Amino acid sequence: MSSKIQSEIEGLRAEIERHNELYYQKAEPEISDYEFDMMLERLRALEAEHPELITPDSPTQRVGGKADSLRPFKHTVPLMSLDNSYSLDELKAFTERCEKLAEGRRLEYVAELKIDGLSVSLHYENGILMTAATRGDGQTGDEVTQNAKTIRTVPLRLKTDAPQHAEVRGEVFLSRSQFARINAELEMQGEKTFANPRNCASGTLRMLDSQIVASRRLDMFPYDVIRGNQKMFATHWENFEWLDRNGFNVNPNRALCSGFDDLVAFINEMETHRDALDYEIDGVVVKVNSTALQEEFGATTKAPRWAIAYKYPARKATTKLLAITIQVGRTGALTPVANLEPVLLAGSTVARASLHNEDEIKRLGIRIGDTVEIEKSGEIIPQVLGVVEAKRDGTETGFEFPTVCPVCGSPAVRPEGEAVRRCTNPDCPAKLKARIQYFASRKAMDIEGLGEVLVETLVDKEMVRDVADLYSLKLEDIAALERMAEKSGTNLIEQIEASKSRGLQRLLYGIDIRHVGERYAKILAGNFRSIDRIAAASVEELDDIPEIGLAVAESVYSWFRDAKNIELVERLKAAGVHVEMDASSTAALDERFIGKTFVLTGKLENYTRDEAAKLIEDRGGRVSSSVSKKTDYVVAGSDAGSKLTKAESLGVAVLNEAEFAKMVS
Ligand SMILES: [Zn+2]
Repeated sequence: MSSKIQSEIEGLRAEIERHNELYYQKAEPEISDYEFDMMLERLRALEAEHPELITPDSPTQRVGGKADSLRPFKHTVPLMSLDNSYSLDELKAFTERCEKLAEGRRLEYVAELKIDGLSVSLHYENGILMTAATRGDGQTGDEVTQNAKTIRTVPLRLKTDAPQHAEVRGEVFLSRSQFARINAELEMQGEKTFANPRNCASGTLRMLDSQIVASRRLDMFPYDVIRGNQKMFATHWENFEWLDRNGFNVNPNRALCSGFDDLVAFINEMETHRDALDYEIDGVVVKVNSTALQEEFGATTKAPRWAIAYKYPARKATTKLLAITIQVGRTGALTPVANLEPVLLAGSTVARASLHNEDEIKRLGIRIGDTVEIEKSGEIIPQVLGVVEAKRDGTETGFEFPTVCPVCGSPAVRPEGEAVRRCTNPDCPAKLKARIQYFASRKAMDIEGLGEVLVETLVDKEMVRDVADLYSLKLEDIAALERMAEKSGTNLIEQIEASKSRGLQRLLYGIDIRHVGERYAKILAGNFRSIDRIAAASVEELDDIPEIGLAVAESVYSWFRDAKNIELVERLKAAGVHVEMDASSTAALDERFIGKTFVLTGKLENYTRDEAAKLIEDRGGRVSSSVSKKTDYVVAGSDAGSKLTKAESLGVAVLNEAEFAKMVS
């Protein structure tokens, strides 16, 4: 009996880990989130009945409870830092030193990306993750085992090997997309946002509540594995093969280089791809490949002689702060923006930078007319790092953060304990404009022709007073607007019409209920299947849904208790907007499709062109008729012609029908 249960438990664990890997590392899920959750639930139930069968590598152990404090952890083998080089000349000097030490023996280097995250060390015993610790000062770090377990790409059990001991080292980081999501959520809750993904990752990994850590979706790229204080393999390159085999998320961008010229080629290639990566890098790490040579070269007191970190030139510049303007967002939040004397930074002209909030301006001690240092990291808008005080000449003036809304003049209030000041006027035109743009955005009703300028005009001319008014716009009203071509007017009306059938999930997202982002919109739509049922639900009924917490339940409940909102929903219904979950909206938005452009070419066996296009659009993708550098995927059926050739010459990803079918299944 108990052996039957044991084998069911083991089977479930293996399946869950397999699907985990398919989902998080290969982005090729075979089952729905729901089926996955059901498997995990079943495992939890079995383990609750048989607690003696719980093991530390069970997927149920990924999220644990709260800790009181972090314990220090002494590293068995110190995590040394690497020497940095800031120019190719310094890198060249490094390779020359290595060549000299190698005394004519064959020398190879491994070049890897330098991920902008934080180093951690994971200890596996007999293949099971036992301890995780941050690098700290290299000798002693913080023990963060429970938090590291929440990282879905960290195997709790090695997939193929089970050595008595193995220490895996890697860089924990936060992807840009998760970083943007977290900051958007924090902002919505009126909390302080993080300056960059690295700060967010390092703060997160050291949190005491692993539930929150799990929700942040950290990730890790491993870069080394050792046994005791010995390297496992004859070459560094083999580490990656072992790590890959054992289920780690190995970064695919690395190269085996025979010398300086190869290294420079890799460094330059990665620099051009840098902004397209979903994580931040700040350079390239170069290591001697041969373990024997590494040992022979040894280390100085500070760093190994067989490795160096090449850092990309800093993307910093100094310029003058001309003014601080205040933007008013959807929630009425007043956000300060630095207007700068235009300056060239990392290949583009920068005239604006983020100042985050009131406290940040105070912290920086910034004055109008100051010379400021700004930094650009990835695609995130530039940040003001600080003031160059030596450049002050006494003409600078202080900045008072406004206490009234700069758009409508109503009081702007900052509740105690919150970082954000908000306009209190519910009918503030700035809020309305931002709300309409949000409603029309890609993840909501996707009305492409409704841009910022047009929304501005429609609100200023009082043609639109809320999102439901969009559906009573007439072609002649729009055509009468200045600078509006007849064709774009017709297009806009068509797009507004098409937006009516985007489905319940997108509508829930678009009407902007506090706390209800993409994920909760999906959960609410899936559970209630109609807006009327959501409107009628009690706080308890909402809170009963496992993924929904009390804060979200209360927010949804109170939104539907506001007479103005009820009226809005009624008018949307009257306009013909779909408020039920219908067959066409069962396909949920999919990260792999959102914002991506697809081109269909050739003949598909199992889909007509229209069917394939609908599958893509339902998931949040777009279909275009011609291939360009902006195309993300070309789906090529049989007899594909020039479009396929063009895609190949531009390096655009090509999917055959089977691959496409898998993506939409
Ligand atoms: Zn206002």
